[in-house]
Formats: sequence, C-alpha cells, structure tokens
Amino acid sequence: MWSLTRFYSNPVARGIWLYAKEQLSMIGFNKALDIILREIEPLDIIEVSLSQAFGMVLAEDVCSDMDIPPFDKSAMDGYAVRSRDLVDAPATLSVLATVAAGSTHRGAAGKGQCVRIMTGAPVPEGFDAVVMFEETEEREGKALFTRKVKQGQNICARGEDVKAGERVLVRGSIIQGPEIAVLASVGHVQCRVYRRPVVSVLPTGSEIVEPDEAVGKGMIRNSNGPMLTGLAASLGMDVRYLGIGNDREEELRELIEAGLKTDMLLISGGVSMGDYDLVPAMLRACGADIKLHRVRIKPGKPLLFAKSGGCVIVGIPGNPVSNFTTFNVFIKPALYRMMGRLVYAPRFVDARLAHAVEKKGKRTHLMPSMYRLEKGVYEVTTLKLNGSADIIGCAGCNCLLFVDEGEQNLGRGDKVPILLLDG
Ligand code: AMP
Ligand code: MG
Repeated sequence: MWSLTRFYSNPVARGIWLYAKEQLSMIGFNKALDIILREIEPLDIIEVSLSQAFGMVLAEDVCSDMDIPPFDKSAMDGYAVRSRDLVDAPATLSVLATVAAGSTHRGAAGKGQCVRIMTGAPVPEGFDAVVMFEETEEREGKALFTRKVKQGQNICARGEDVKAGERVLVRGSIIQGPEIAVLASVGHVQCRVYRRPVVSVLPTGSEIVEPDEAVGKGMIRNSNGPMLTGLAASLGMDVRYLGIGNDREEELRELIEAGLKTDMLLISGGVSMGDYDLVPAMLRACGADIKLHRVRIKPGKPLLFAKSGGCVIVGIPGNPVSNFTTFNVFIKPALYRMMGRLVYAPRFVDARLAHAVEKKGKRTHLMPSMYRLEKGVYEVTTLKLNGSADIIGCAGCNCLLFVDEGEQNLGRGDKVPILLLDG
C-alpha cells in the first residue's frame, strides 16, 4: 500500500521528489532579472555642475540655447569667395582681408573679391563658398582659382547641427564623452542627474583573510571583496568596503545593518544551504524582505535578492566565479537602473563556438569565455575552469557564453549568444 513513509524511505523516489521541489522553487534567469529590475527605482534627482556630471545619468531632457553652429563658419583654411565669380574659372580674385577664427570681417563683398579665411572663422556677408588654400595660388594680393565652386562649399551653415530650442539629449542618457561635450556646447552648466548609488561590499566567511594577511591553515584569501569593489567602482559607484564578516550571527548582523544604510549591499558568501550560511536569517532578522533566493543558473544558483527600506541587497554565493558572472548579469543592470539609465542594452552578440561544449543539467549556464574577432566574426572559446571556485582560470575573460535552459550540448561552429564584458 502507498504511504508517505514508504515513499520517503525509497531513495529514488525521495531523490525525484527533492529534485522536483527544487526545480519548482527556483526561478529562471529571465524571470529573476525581471524581478530584480522591477523592484529597483532610480535614485533621487540632484543638481550638479558640468564638471561633476561625467559618468552620471541625466534626469532631464536638454535643449540647445542657440543655433549650432551659431554663425556660418568656414570649415577650411582658404578663401571665402562668391561662387558666381568663379563660374568661368580659371579666374583671379583680389584678396581684401584676412579673417581669423574669433574675429569678424565687415564690409561689402564686391564682384571679383575674396577674403583669406581660417577654419572656424565666420564667413563674411555676401560670400557663399570657401576654397581651400591647397587649390589656389596667391601672388601680390591676387588669388588664382582653377575650378568653379558650389554654393555653400566648405561652409558649415548656421544652425545646421541643431536649432535653438531643439532637444539635444534625452533623460536617462549616461553622460560620457560626446554627451558632456554636448552639455558644454549648449551652455548647460547646471545639470539635473540621478544621485550616484552608494554600494557597500561585504565579503563573508570565517575562512577568509585579506590578501595582505598571513594565510593560516584552512584559510583562503579574499578575492571577492577586491573584485566586487573594483567592478562597482568601474561603473562609477561610490563604494564602501565593509571588511570581512565572520560566520557569526552578531558580527554579520552588525555589518549588514551598516550596509543597509547604503543604496545597495553586496554580500558574498553565506547564502547557500550550509550550517554556517547565516546571511538569509540575518537579513530577515534585520527586517529585510527576501524577494528571491535561488535561480536556475550555473554558477550562482543560491543567488539572493532582498530589499530593506531604500536598500537593495544582493547575496551572491561565495565562489568567486559566481561573483564575477552574477555581477555582470544581475548587479550591473540593477545598478544602471538605480542610476536612472534608460538607454542601456547589455551587449549581446552572436558568436561562433570554437569547440564543442558539454552542458550538465538544465540550468542556464553563464560560461566565462574569451572571444576574438576573426574576419568580423566573434569566435568564442570557453575558459577551462575547475568549477566555480576557479577564479585563476578566469583571468583574461572578456565575455560570458550563455547556454539557455532549453539548450543541451553544443557543437563546434554553432551560433551562440555571448555577453561582451570588455569596453
Ligand atoms: P559560501 O557561499 O559561503 O558557502 O562560499 C562558497 C565558497 O566560496 C567557499 O569555498 C568559500 O571559501 C569561497 N569564498 C567565500 N567568500 C570568498 C571570498 N571573499 N573570496 C574568495 N573565496 C570565497
Ligand atoms: Mg561561507
């Protein structure tokens, strides 16, 4: 007769049951990312001066306060001419004056006249083209032109880039090279941007020592702390390193409480099923609301995401490779969202697999890999790792190969999606 006790005492049935339960309780990669991003709002809006704005995200649309260029401008060093004077070229014109950038020339443009003009100088009234020095010869106040010219040639017309009042930047854009130059060009010296997130980093584990400390028996060096700190700083975050938390309740609780005062708390280690994985319980004790725990990804399955007040908490299983992959696929988009970045798409490209890949199990695999461009095609090779602790084998990683839940083994030459991590 069927009984629960008999079912549980059968190791095969019990195994199937536990596996099914785990699968049901775990969330897929896309759903997990959705949950995380849905829970995050851009931070408050502040005003900064232009010199502080680089790397921040605009919280406003910006319009130009003037026509750009603000005047008809010479694009070349040469002669400003009247195109109609050169219809029967070759022709000789008399040189009236010289206009440098930053100065102006007033006076009528008469028939048969031209003006020496430098790049960036305003084209004087009446002239409608510029011929570059290289195509002319000047002798005793006369310049010889061998060819006719088109009206408007080598002139940047007033307002051709943008007209006064037109929008030049949209809310949600990150301010980098061109954007800061645009702000400067339109005189937008006070900018409304989203506040830079403050990110705290808390590596946990009683076996962890700082890299400059002696490595006692059973201990390993803290590689996650420097990695998470560096990765967050590279995105422009204001990073607070909290130091290593031992696997002791009170100590962890205190450090978590310090971290909860920041915008995002990154905790490495202590989120799995071990006896000393105290992070979930300590988060609950601090009043945090755990939104997800365990995702169908490899590595990084025990990933935890929680919120407490204004703080977003990401608990990452301690193995360093999980820290690296998880940062790139979950934490980075989450931080960009906090920064208010709307114009952002992870850089996925199709690549050609350089060798066969064996996939074990159903979870989405995020494989640290290296790509190189072969005649315009991304060719990807996975790094040979001894599991998710092997950060040594990750050196040089410049992309992650995604093998979806539905996929199984892949063959050499297969088209596969990779997430570019460099640049
Ligand atoms: P845990 O998730 O705490 O069970 O840790 C999983 C594995 O990652 C263990 O072998 C830890 O020793 C290792 N680990 C945890 N934290 C770090 C760290 N900060 N740096 C390097 N390895 C770590
Ligand atoms: Mg641990």
